[in-house]
Amino acid sequence: MKKKIFLCAISNISSGRCSQDCSFCTQSVKYKADIDRYYKKDIKEIVDQAIRARANKAVGFCLVSATKSLDSKMVEFVSEVSYEIKKKEKDLALIGCCGMADKDSLKAIQSAGVEVYNHNLETSKEFYPKICTTHNWNERYETCENVKSVGLAVCTGGIFGLGESEEDRISMLKSIASLKPFSSPINFYHPNEALPLKKDIISIDEAISCVKLSKKYLPDSIIMVAGGREIVFEDNQNLIFEAGANSIVIGDYLTTKGENPKKDLEKIESMGYEFAENRLSDECNF
Ligand code: SF4
Repeated sequence: MKKKIFLCAISNISSGRCSQDCSFCTQSVKYKADIDRYYKKDIKEIVDQAIRARANKAVGFCLVSATKSLDSKMVEFVSEVSYEIKKKEKDLALIGCCGMADKDSLKAIQSAGVEVYNHNLETSKEFYPKICTTHNWNERYETCENVKSVGLAVCTGGIFGLGESEEDRISMLKSIASLKPFSSPINFYHPNEALPLKKDIISIDEAISCVKLSKKYLPDSIIMVAGGREIVFEDNQNLIFEAGANSIVIGDYLTTKGENPKKDLEKIESMGYEFAENRLSDECNF
């Protein structure tokens, strides 16, 4: 049986206005990165993105707001967006990603059609104070616990290449594993001159070992290579899947351009893989 690849696309429904100071993130207002900044994307534009994503074989569509938490206004907006997308693409799994969230807010977006909530632990508990001072790691973990307790599928992962040690990586992956996530996004730091974090792009060899390590600690989760994929792996995308990943983000990221989805589809097909047809595709050969 051919290995199935899960494709996911993302939409930055609220961009570049986050009050937090994560040193790797261009969406913080504390840094003056040259990105689009707006409170709410036009709903029709989001729905059009969702339709294009499904046409490009995405099974998941992530609604991302750069906000510290899922407040009542964002609950309302995500719910409205979710209803509108479901009218057009009922089989597309919707993923919320709007920061820290309490159970009531999560239940509200769940009842509007969101099935999965993404909140990354980002790095280890020990290393976290070195990359963020405005909130703490425990708050991130608690949100993931809230996600589980309301019955949404948990999507949580992290970012490599922030200056963390191997021990930090293992610590993060063990914490992620303790949440039994449905899927786990693996990101690689994408340097930007406006950011205070001065680190080079991780090497491809190190990135491969990060994917393998993730697979080792998360054997039952979908391992999704997300931000930084193109700049790290360039023309060696096959290595992502050979290292154990079975999912990627297609199209543009939140503030950086991605590969043309058609090219990704062609490459994946030429590698001999198939595309998962829905997020619960049980034929996937992890
Ligand atoms: S909380 Fe999220 S959006 Fe805000 S600065 Fe940190 S990583 Fe970026």
